[in-house]
Amino acid sequence: MADNISDLMIGGDPATYLLQEVFAFDITLTKIQCDACDTVSGLGSLVVEGGPMEALVKCANCENYLIRAARTPNGRLLELNGARHLYF
Ligand SMILES: [Zn+2]
Repeated sequence: MADNISDLMIGGDPATYLLQEVFAFDITLTKIQCDACDTVSGLGSLVVEGGPMEALVKCANCENYLIRAARTPNGRLLELNGARHLYF
């Protein structure tokens, strides 16, 4: 079993390339759809709350948190529980 993305790339699996492409996008140009109210917003236009250890992005329409990114003792964490889709 592969431990990280570079191990997966060795196999040259096209699905792995798609995954890498998906995670190499410019976040500021991304549109995000809220899971609670379906509003689609440009991520670059949304307010980011938090500080050096945690970033929270809230929906412009309904106060739902779309994204939570955090630094933890075990590495970085990304939660997208409040988002339905990212478009990029
Ligand atoms: Zn919303």
